[in-house]
Amino acid sequence: MSSYDAADTATRVLVLNSGSSSLKYQLLDMRDGARLAVGMVERIGEKTSRLVHTLPESGGDSSDGGSSGGEGGRERTGRFADHAKALEAVADELAHDGIGLDSPELAAIGHRVVHGGLRFSEPALIDDGVLAEIERLVPLAPLHNPANLLGIRTARALRPDLPQVAVFDTAFHTTMPEYAARYAIDTATADAHRIRRYGFHGTSHAYVSRRTAELLGKDPSEVNVIVLHLGNGASASAVAGGRCVDTSMGLTPLEGLVMGTRSGDIDPAVTFHLRRVAGMSVDEIDELLNKKSGLVGLCGDNDMREIRRRIDEGDERARLAFGIYIHRLKKYIGAYSAVLGRVDAVAFTAGVGENAAEVREAAVAGLEALGLAMDAKRNAVRSGEPRIVSPDGARTVVAVVPTDEELEIARQTFALIGEDRPAIA
Ligand code: ADP
Repeated sequence: MSSYDAADTATRVLVLNSGSSSLKYQLLDMRDGARLAVGMVERIGEKTSRLVHTLPESGGDSSDGGSSGGEGGRERTGRFADHAKALEAVADELAHDGIGLDSPELAAIGHRVVHGGLRFSEPALIDDGVLAEIERLVPLAPLHNPANLLGIRTARALRPDLPQVAVFDTAFHTTMPEYAARYAIDTATADAHRIRRYGFHGTSHAYVSRRTAELLGKDPSEVNVIVLHLGNGASASAVAGGRCVDTSMGLTPLEGLVMGTRSGDIDPAVTFHLRRVAGMSVDEIDELLNKKSGLVGLCGDNDMREIRRRIDEGDERARLAFGIYIHRLKKYIGAYSAVLGRVDAVAFTAGVGENAAEVREAAVAGLEALGLAMDAKRNAVRSGEPRIVSPDGARTVVAVVPTDEELEIARQTFALIGEDRPAIA
């Protein structure tokens, strides 16, 4: 297979994360992972949309980076009627900085796609067949996949000649053994409706488990890691030798940990009860469990900073919400220790995992029998770097490993379009 003519000079990847009314983007240079532009368009299709465009690392190295050096961002409000208009505006902003979509340095566009079902265990070079497959998965992710498709179609219309790659949130979890992925329900019904555990946040779990192995100075194939991705959405995964063997989210992102607004695990009969006894509709129950539960349902706040502040003021509802959150987290650490047998590291990541030292401390407290311990001083340090927060010599390393889903999407995209080129770490 011949490599692209521009293989040596085309080193940039544009990452697009397209939501139903938003479009987030990052332009990365794959020689060193530098971020040339970061931005988002919000409220697409509404009366006033907003575009925020920043140049975090332009002019930061000696390469020919963006023509307009320096920090800072630009903001534009106006009406972007649809995703096509939004992407055109993004393209204008990039062109203004000399890093437009038509620049020869742009190697590919990488798209985040939420649901890849069983079909996609790897990133896929987008063609009409791949688009049709993503479309076929819409019933499994009715909110997300249509929005992701919109982003892909818009970008293809703008640069039909450029390789475009879909990177799936579910892909990393397709290695789960069948006994972890199947629900114990009637097999024929499950198969007829593609009901099984798919898992999400896979790009983050892949990135963080690999970075954790690096932090330990080992190859991913040599280590077993429990990754705790604690953002507004939250999920845990058990990764054995670089392969996911279990994860806490299931058919949808509702299962598993207590989240900002989602309940996580509950007895499924709660839903029958709400339907039969409380008279709620299916849509109302869906909204209750996905939007009005979790931390917000328990105490009215889903921001961990606010919850900590309220606890410090003696607020009992906030304290109980925190307690329920931590209890669930501990149960998953225990469960995945059993699944893995030997745990080399537990890695905390995402907004809460990276920033909330009290959550890390409480989650690990009392788990000495599992080899877990915390060094309070190390845990209190704030940093954007991967770091170990357990004492030296601990049987299981506890680590904080900041996630970077965009870099991982760019990395996988770049690796796919030029398999002969070495991808950056
Ligand atoms: P998502 O990508 O799921 O929207 P993030 O990974 O950005 O979420 O995490 C957002 C959450 O991180 C916030 O809701 C808040 O609870 C938590 N968070 C962010 N910064 C801090 C902090 N300094 N201390 C404690 N929690 C924080």
